[in-house]
Amino acid sequence: MTSNPTSDRRTFLKSSVTAAAALSLCPQNIIKSSEQTKMPFRFVHLTDIHVQPELSAAEGYRKCIAKINALNPRPDFAITGGDLIMDALHTDLGRAKTEFDIFDKCSKDFELDVYHTIGNHDVVGWSSKGKVSKNNSSYGKQIFTERYGQGKTYRSFDHKGWHFIILDSIGQNKDNPDYFGHIDDAQMDWLKNDLINTGTKKPIVVVTHIPFLSTLDQNLVGIKKPVPTYGLVTNYLTLRKLFVPYNVQLVLSGHGHIRERIEVMGTTHIQSGAVCGKWWRGRLFGESEAFGVVTCKNNSFEYQFQDYGWTAKTS
Ligand SMILES: [Zn+2]
Repeated sequence: MTSNPTSDRRTFLKSSVTAAAALSLCPQNIIKSSEQTKMPFRFVHLTDIHVQPELSAAEGYRKCIAKINALNPRPDFAITGGDLIMDALHTDLGRAKTEFDIFDKCSKDFELDVYHTIGNHDVVGWSSKGKVSKNNSSYGKQIFTERYGQGKTYRSFDHKGWHFIILDSIGQNKDNPDYFGHIDDAQMDWLKNDLINTGTKKPIVVVTHIPFLSTLDQNLVGIKKPVPTYGLVTNYLTLRKLFVPYNVQLVLSGHGHIRERIEVMGTTHIQSGAVCGKWWRGRLFGESEAFGVVTCKNNSFEYQFQDYGWTAKTS
């Protein structure tokens, strides 16, 4: 087909006029990207859900989702923080799939977009006590990748002038089936490019299941033993140096089921407690089952823990 420049120009002008008219009718569409960061919005971070058939966990998770749906103002989206199910590391595949199915069924209650982070308990068989063979096609991160990651275990997106990076912090060495906290080389390369494309001005939220920093071990076992490699992201120092030129405001994590806030070197690290509390057996460290609500505005944020009113059903 040959091109007709006059006709193309007329079509362009007509569509431009139509677009301009549409914009004048919808002033919210004229907001410049530089002004987007001034638009307040909220999102929730709910982590360590550990859905399972027992202990009324599905009922508890649905109660948590109902609380999120009812928040006023309504959050723009939710981010789950990993450990979506009770456990895929040590169980057989049938049990793991049952738990993922329960999680999926409950998650249909969400009335907003949801982005998922992978946790260690969402990885099939990565344990010296695992029951799923390395040769099984579901071994590892396949189920998470297909169901929750749109083909990946890490990704990023923009929202109203902010940049969100969801990491996969679950690593595995060649000679040891047990997981440990790690950002692998391929992901680190992707992250470097993602940050370059984001630029140094845009505020960034990073989500990781395993924390970069935490005082959990000091609180529980003191300082005589080093923090185990499954407790923190072992190559955090590389990340910290990588983040220096960028506007990384907030790092959200889970894994320890503790409520914790650490502010250091211009970045706030928050661990959002646990939706399941003490694995659906009540409070842990005296804290109720909860999630985090983050309000972003003017290149800064506010964070609050939100109880959703669950009482454990252990009998
Ligand atoms: Zn975990």
